[in-house]
Formats: sequence, structure tokens, C-alpha cells
Amino acid sequence: MTSVAAYAAPSAKAPLERTTIERRAVREHDVLIDIKFAGICHSDIHQAHEGWGKAIFPMVPGHEIAGIVSEVGPGVTKYQVGDRVGVGCLVDSCRECDNCKAGLEQHCTGGSVGTYNAIGKDGEPTYGGYSEKVVVDENFVVRIPDGLSLDVAAPLLCAGITTYSPLKHWGAGPGKKVAVIGLGGLGHMGVKIAHALGAEVTVLSQSLRKKDDGLKLGADHYYATSDPKTFEELAGSFDLILSTVSAPLDFGAYLSLLRTGGALVNVGAPEEPVALNLFSLIGGNKTLAGSMIGGIAETQEMLDFCAVHGFGAEIEVISADQINEAYKRVLDSDVRYRFVIDTATI
Ligand code: NAP
Ligand code: ZN
Ligand code: ZN
Repeated sequence: MTSVAAYAAPSAKAPLERTTIERRAVREHDVLIDIKFAGICHSDIHQAHEGWGKAIFPMVPGHEIAGIVSEVGPGVTKYQVGDRVGVGCLVDSCRECDNCKAGLEQHCTGGSVGTYNAIGKDGEPTYGGYSEKVVVDENFVVRIPDGLSLDVAAPLLCAGITTYSPLKHWGAGPGKKVAVIGLGGLGHMGVKIAHALGAEVTVLSQSLRKKDDGLKLGADHYYATSDPKTFEELAGSFDLILSTVSAPLDFGAYLSLLRTGGALVNVGAPEEPVALNLFSLIGGNKTLAGSMIGGIAETQEMLDFCAVHGFGAEIEVISADQINEAYKRVLDSDVRYRFVIDTATI
């Protein structure tokens, strides 16, 4: 066991504070990672506020981890000391079920283990990336390509894969009109990735406040959803809409923006349910779908894709004592576009 400094929420909704946690000794297939940067995902806030149901406290959030391997177990074959690596939302799964075998570890039917707010196979709670070091089985570690610096790579481990996976799955590409709802951490990656895949990209944001940024990120069009004219003008326009919104939305209104046969894929995970008149799906043979992060192999594919296209996330690097203020700014939709903690400040 090694004691490492971390930032934890002692109880639901309490401010995060500096603490010390124990990391397990490196086992046969484990790597010890010196964490350099950890992104702040809105999911960290939902969980630290216990908005998704009962959570485990103290909680060390953080599932957008980038760092350097500093020790490897005797059975490790994929990584060496000094390698630049990342860890996302998962640190274990059964590895035997059909989903695990298909590279969909996030849907493991034997029970995947979250990077934090979960109980590991050893019965101990897992603690996330707002800390100095983490010990992870090599099969749940990915390689950060040389072309990406660790700070802009960290948010790709959740925001990147959560948008890449559905955009690929639902065919975003040349000749496709894709809209992204919400220009936050996930949304800005959705815009970059959909643009890199060759789609015509529209941002649907609450206001036009971030329009210049959206166009620079690769959007072709930008609309404010607070303006009712937006829904008239864009009715029946899109092949695919990706919703990244953290609050309940009027999905019926957004489904009206799909062309016949189009799909709205939701990745946002609001704390309250939404109501939907099913006629908004029936008329026009529309699909409303969901998507959860992505498997380990696809996460590696996404990192390599981002490196080839020469982009990471747009980030604001903060020190650990700014985490609580950053949470407030995320809740106020005042993030451009991901807060990343410099873990040297913990
Ligand atoms: P974020 O950075 O806070 O971005 C969310 C964006 O949604 C905001 O920037 C804002 O964009 C828009 N928004 C916020 N409140 C809104 C409201 N009341 N009405 C309309 N739009 C609103 O959050 P994030 O880290 O990208 O995460 C987004 C959601 O995805 C969270 O619920 C998170 O838990 C979830 N998530 C899901 C997965 C998955 O696997 N499915 C993975 C990661 C995260 P504008 O200012 O542009 O309107
Ligand atoms: Zn996340
Ligand atoms: Zn499994």
C-alpha cells in the first residue's frame, strides 16, 4: 500500500478537500501511474452531489486521467516505466461475458468497475484521478500518442470517447448533417470529432455567447435554442443529433429537427427523468438512442484518431484548490471547455 494525496468529497454536496488515500501495492498485471492531469467531467459533479443515487464517500472523483507509468507488475506486457498513458471511466470488468469479448467492457454483464464511486473486485472502494497516483490493471490502461500533450489528452478519456463512439456508430461523416446540443466538455469534443469525420456540423447552444469558439472548433453553423425561430428554421434538417446536455431537455422539440429516418443520440445524464410524447418518434420513423462512453479498444482508436487529426481538448488548467470553484462554473455552463487539474498542485 502507498499513501497518496488526493482531493475528496467527504459527503454528498460537501466541498472537496485535500486528504490522503491508500493505493494498493502493484500486482502481477498492474501498472502504477504518476497522474499528471485529471479532467473535471460533469459526471464527477452529478456523483459528488449524489444526483444519480446513493454514492460512496469519501469520494475522489476523476475519470479523465493522464500520466506516466512509474512501476509495472511482473506480468505486465503492454507498458513500461516512462510510458505516457491514460485511464478513463473503467478500471476492471469480468473480461468473459459477450460484451467484454466484443470490446464493450462498459456494458459488462458480469459487472464492470468504475474508476471511482465503485467497489473493486478486491472489495475495496475505487478512488479516481484527483490524486497523485493510481494503480490500474494494464488491460484498462490506454496509450497516449506522442503527438498529444498530457493536459489536452486527459479529457479525451471520457469526453472524447463518449462523443467519438456514437458519432462513429451512427455514421457521422461526409454528406451527413450532424447537430451537437450543448457546447460544454462533451459537446466541444463532439464538434471537433464530427468535423474531423467530415460531417457538416451545427451547434445548438442555449445562446450565441460561444458562437465564435464553436465556429473555430469546426462547426459550420451555430444556433441559439433560446430563440424559437431556430426550431422553425431547422425543422427536418439533421441526419444525426448528439445531445450532451446535463439537464432535462424537451426531446420532442429536438426530434422535430431530424429528417425522416434520422436519429437523436443522447449521452447527457441528467438527474431527473424527461417526458416525451411518442408521436415525435412515430412521425418520420425517428430513432432516440443512448450511448455510454466506449470500450477500451475504441478508446485507444479515438486517441489515435485525435492524434492523427492533431487535436486534443480545449482546456483551462487549474490548481487543486480551485476544484470547488470549477464545479460551480461547470454548473453555470461557464466552462471553456474542460477544466483540467494539474495534479502537482494536490
Ligand atoms: P458540461 O461541460 O457541463 O456541458 C453540458 C452543456 O450542456 C453546457 O455547457 C451547456 O451548453 C448545456 N446545458 C447545460 N444546462 C442546460 C440546460 N438546462 N438546458 C440546455 N442546455 C444546457 O458537461 P459535460 O461534462 O459535457 O457532460 C454532459 C452530460 O453528459 C452530463 O450529464 C454528464 O454526466 C454526461 N456524461 C455522459 C457520459 C456517457 O457515457 N453517456 C459520459 C460523460 C458524461 P451550452 O451553454 O452550449 O448550452
Ligand atoms: Zn465523464
Ligand atoms: Zn464482462
